Amino acid sequence: CDQQPVDDKLNKTLGRIKHKIVVMSGKGGVGKSTVAANIAVALSLAGKKVGLLDVDVHGPSIPRLLSLKGQTPHMGVDVMEPVPWSKNLSVMSLGFLLEDDRQAVIWRGPVKMGLIKQFVEDVMWGDLDYLIVDCPPGTGDEPLSTLQTLGPTAMAVVVTTPQGVAIDDVRRSLSFVGEVGNRVLGLVENMSGFACPDCGAVHNIFNSGGGEDLAKEAGVRFLGRIPMDPAVARSGDEGFPFVKVSEDSATGQAMKAIIDPM
Ligand code: ADP
Repeated sequence: CDQQPVDDKLNKTLGRIKHKIVVMSGKGGVGKSTVAANIAVALSLAGKKVGLLDVDVHGPSIPRLLSLKGQTPHMGVDVMEPVPWSKNLSVMSLGFLLEDDRQAVIWRGPVKMGLIKQFVEDVMWGDLDYLIVDCPPGTGDEPLSTLQTLGPTAMAVVVTTPQGVAIDDVRRSLSFVGEVGNRVLGLVENMSGFACPDCGAVHNIFNSGGGEDLAKEAGVRFLGRIPMDPAVARSGDEGFPFVKVSEDSATGQAMKAIIDPM
């Protein structure tokens, strides 16, 4: 029998990926998928070979954000080819495999954990500079399984909004990453102030700076803040990643700056 032991296969796949970055958040709706998609696109535009893996089993939104809805990965005997977005960026998402993206995914923990592992080892990622993983929110089975599958060299980027409630969730995420044995690459504060489409200034409607204070308190790097900008929501809805279509705007620059320490 020439079947390889499963972990051997996983290690081989991971061995060809230089940097593994898991984008996490304490809760949903803070812009985690938006940040993951834009980080992946920004790195690919900077000439890096990038894979983007969407393991958000309850709301896979990467296909929509990158205008890849309705695409299906090419299937081999026991491998899948990721869907190309560009020469440098390939994408895999559960959304590609669901017949209807409104279909509710009700799977028990072990099935979800198996799926995450399969998405890493059975996908022909090839040689990558970066694998960016859009992880479900919170500190449950899926983020745990994602970090465990990718191993201790995977680093977390935690996305938060500046409000206090979100910050409390982030504290939990940071300690979760440490407990699993991984490191935090840094914290992103999204929806930090409102970028006025008329005057271009950023108005702080809610508190801002909560993410930066928390990063200092927790001893992790602050990767930057992205304002709430109606153009970001629009570009997400239309499937054009913001860092590509508006890279020269102040918000686009803020997004691009997040990849500097990567
Ligand atoms: P999550 O992955 O955390 O659930 P999403 O990335 O899906 O969050 O974002 C939730 C909603 O907020 C989407 O409609 C998205 O377009 C919007 N959004 C995210 N970041 C911003 C931003 N900086 N400015 C405006 N809208 C944003």
